[in-house]
Amino acid sequence: MYLKSIEIHGFKSFANKIVLDFHKGITAIVGPNGSGKSNVSDAVRWVLGEQSARQLRGASMQDVIFAGTQNRKALGYAYVAITLDNSDQALPVDYKELTVARRVYRSGESEYLLNGTPCRLRDVNELFFDTGIGKEGYSIIGQGQIEKILSGKPEERRELFDEAVGIVKYKQRKKVTLKKLEDERENLVRVTDILSELE
Ligand code: ATP
Repeated sequence: MYLKSIEIHGFKSFANKIVLDFHKGITAIVGPNGSGKSNVSDAVRWVLGEQSARQLRGASMQDVIFAGTQNRKALGYAYVAITLDNSDQALPVDYKELTVARRVYRSGESEYLLNGTPCRLRDVNELFFDTGIGKEGYSIIGQGQIEKILSGKPEERRELFDEAVGIVKYKQRKKVTLKKLEDERENLVRVTDILSELE
């Protein structure tokens, strides 16, 4: 699997729609300070479901929308789509190519799309569990992150290993199942109460 392209429109400094095509191997993005290099990796983080404005170097989620310049009006929405080559079936779906997209409007309305079909954030998260690509993955190493990993708490470091060995999805499923069990237990208590009232 590899990243084939990124389409960005209205995200941070990218007012015009741009498409960056990548090929197998290493690609370097170079440019002067402030030209938007980090905004490209922010776009990838964002489309993968990043919910923290701080992680995207902003104060609020609306900060990802192009805010305008002296010569150009602000835009009303931000859109990012990444296309991944999945011919090795590294992602657990039948598609050979997968496009994940996210759009947010100034009103706060937002949506995720998988190959053009609206989906939930949860679907995006589940798709990337244990691949190292998800927003919690290690495929994007930001400035200062190495230091954070080295000086982080053992539990935080363990999360990285969990992702690398592929057990995050099981941990997540366990969490969901335990929650369901707890809900059922509460329902059972309620039913028992009603039954004893009726008797
Ligand atoms: P450096 O080499 O200094 O790290 P860089 O090339 O990584 O820089 P970025 O940090 O990606 O640059 O881009 C910063 C630019 O993006 C700034 O000029 C900032 O004004 C612009 N920018 C960020 N958010 C928005 C926004 N919402 N609307 C318009 N421009 C934005």
